[in-house]
Amino acid sequence: MSADAIVVGAGIVGAACAAELAARGMSVEVIEARGIGGGATAAGMGHIVVMNDSPAEFALARHSRELWLALAPHLREIDAFSRCGTLWIAEDDDELAAARAMHAAFASGGVRAHQLDAAALRDAEPALSHAMQGGLLIDDDAIVYAPAAAQFLLTRSPGAARIRVSTQCAVAAVDASESAACVTLANGERRTAAHVVVANGLAASALIDGVPLEAKKGHLLITDRYPGTLHHQVLELGYIKSAHHARGTSVAFNAQPRPTGQMLIGSSRQFGTLDPAVDMNVLGAMLRRASHYLPGIGALDAIRAWTGFRAATPDGLPVIGPARPADDRLWLATGHEGLGVTTSLGTAKLLAAQMFGEPMPFPLPDAAAFSAQRFAGAHVDD
Ligand SMILES: Cc1cc2nc3c(=O)[nH]c(=O)nc-3n(C[C@H](O)[C@H](O)[C@H](O)COP(=O)(O)OP(=O)(O)OC[C@H]3O[C@@H](n4cnc5c(N)ncnc54)[C@H](O)[C@@H]3O)c2cc1C
Repeated sequence: MSADAIVVGAGIVGAACAAELAARGMSVEVIEARGIGGGATAAGMGHIVVMNDSPAEFALARHSRELWLALAPHLREIDAFSRCGTLWIAEDDDELAAARAMHAAFASGGVRAHQLDAAALRDAEPALSHAMQGGLLIDDDAIVYAPAAAQFLLTRSPGAARIRVSTQCAVAAVDASESAACVTLANGERRTAAHVVVANGLAASALIDGVPLEAKKGHLLITDRYPGTLHHQVLELGYIKSAHHARGTSVAFNAQPRPTGQMLIGSSRQFGTLDPAVDMNVLGAMLRRASHYLPGIGALDAIRAWTGFRAATPDGLPVIGPARPADDRLWLATGHEGLGVTTSLGTAKLLAAQMFGEPMPFPLPDAAAFSAQRFAGAHVDD
């Protein structure tokens, strides 16, 4: 065998799984088609945010955020972590009510949050439109530079000496018997291990039949340096609806102050396309939405715009566990949609607990919430 475990994919999820298994003493081989921290990991915002769209998502994100906070001192050394908090913005009475409901849900789940009235919102973020009615501040949310975090996990985390990474090396097929699992590389070479973890994001469905993943395209734009313009990651409360429920093309205001003083502006969601080109109509709609919240945005210089693809399952939750019923050789960790940087560390803990036959590392409202088998017989809409 070439290792105790082979992990396919060196995005943030594969890197987190490799680091967790290596920390438990396993020798791990990571096989990556391109480079470390590429794919969706390189394209995203790296916002570490607790979302509560469903109890399972809340549990995974909350636990994962604790793991990121524990890692923060190491990531700060490589300028890959900043605890800027999240500020959810309420524009009207309905959104103020949504902020209150979110506050109550967070309080009962042990997540620190504060409600801000309009004056407190203006003090916290003077650049925001003064027409906004208030907001909800989540102090402990953060941002990470995810490609650097993936690199850290694979090369400097506690078990990293047991991790070997092969880049520019694509896996063409995976299979498993009772005694071992095996990957076949694109050049025909075969490598075996006790376990194979398929963590190659959107491409997982090419290796494992029946994983219903759909691409959700997103645009981002980064500005020149304007230090002090924003202090928190700011999102409209409507983002939750856009992120999880919209079917057509949607945009929502989401802006992040980078430690460099630049501003990263999102976000958009589009289905039914794998074209990576920036769509000027979608980018324009996204920036118009942003200028509604940040009226001064039109005066800022943009440096670059790009797109990325989130790997989405039909219910928006990831797949973490055996690839097939009762399979303890072939594992899946994919489908993290727009929250995979946040939830990568908790994903790794959940996966390892299942592999080692341990109880779940944190309470889950539904033990099958992330199981691949929940989609048995399902298909993705065209
Ligand atoms: C625009 C945008 C904004 C986002 N913002 C956030 C955010 O603020 N916060 C957050 O938590 N999440 C965010 N996300 C989501 C997050 O980026 C993803 O959920 C996460 O990066 C997924 O990581 P991954 O490792 O599963 O996949 P990927 O990062 O896509 O990594 C998969 C890797 O597998 C490799 N691979 C593929 N096929 C093979 C093969 N056959 N053999 C070997 N290797 C292979 C790829 O090259 C790639 O490196 C955002 C995503 C987008 C697109």
